[in-house]
Amino acid sequence: AKEGGRNSFRFFEAAMDANAMRTLTLGVAIRGALENREFSLVYQPIIDTRTHRAVAVEALLRWHSPDHGTVPPDHFIPLLEENGLIVPVSRWALREALRQVRAMQEAGQPELRLAFNLSSRQFRDVGLLQDVTAALDELDFTPRLLELELTESALMDNPEASAAVLEALRTHGIRMAVDDFGTGYSSLAYLMCFPVRTLKIDRSFVHGMEHSHEAATIVRAIASLAGSLGLEVIGEGVENLAQLALLQELGCHQVQGFLFSRPLPAAELPPPFNNREQH
Ligand code: C2E
Ligand code: CA
Ligand code: CA
Ligand code: CA
Repeated sequence: AKEGGRNSFRFFEAAMDANAMRTLTLGVAIRGALENREFSLVYQPIIDTRTHRAVAVEALLRWHSPDHGTVPPDHFIPLLEENGLIVPVSRWALREALRQVRAMQEAGQPELRLAFNLSSRQFRDVGLLQDVTAALDELDFTPRLLELELTESALMDNPEASAAVLEALRTHGIRMAVDDFGTGYSSLAYLMCFPVRTLKIDRSFVHGMEHSHEAATIVRAIASLAGSLGLEVIGEGVENLAQLALLQELGCHQVQGFLFSRPLPAAELPPPFNNREQH
């Protein structure tokens, strides 16, 4: 037994080494990724179930490495944050997204919103406001059709600084959303101190709702409080009709998930796109 224990410990060590090695080689590979045009964006529609229209698309970053294949954002975003490349990569991504969504607006969806993710590191970057407003200007994009998504923990890292940055963005007409809502520890009342327009209910609640009375109760509470405060609520990660029906019943009318569409490259989003009946 002792022998086996030692072997499995060795095995564990070896696995750790392999992981550390992979992180290291990924970290090296990602340094050239922006120059080598290895990043791209995909878009996932956000649908209003009352009108069956896409009200927004969320831009999601992809990395296709020639050596490592397609690396998931949950692996490479932390690397970009560590080496500081998140700022230039995101600067590129915002322009690319503004340009592509601008084209979607011109194709017949003038009010289509772009939802764009910010990491906590970018949120602390002093150049953020200047970067974003310059990009909006350059691409002639209506500020109120841009919604920046930030997680609760990014907001809570430094609540006072957050409030100031958010207020400045709001003054420019840019909207803010709290992403993965419900996974942090802040109270909704506290969050109300920030000028946010939208709450995105984390998909763990959406998935939990069907089987857990507690999850459903939480979603109902979020939807009703947000509704009375004039906030918009988006249910994330909707995969089936039961989840959709429950969200609607609980008062959440904006949804996003594989049931409607996986995130797709701009060119692969279906043509009318804003008028598609879903089944
Ligand atoms: P997120 O912002 O919460 O994005 C939603 C994630 O849920 C996406 O994963 C999306 O593909 C996935 N998703 C959408 N619908 C469904 C569904 O019905 N079921 C399931 N199981 N998943 C669904 P993705 O693209 O892998 O992105 C993961 C995370 O990486 C994002 O979570 C976001 O935090 C981060 N991320 C992605 N792109 C960017 C970016 O450009 N900048 C920053 N800072 N973060 C990004
Ligand atoms: Ca998001
Ligand atoms: Ca989310
Ligand atoms: Ca997330």
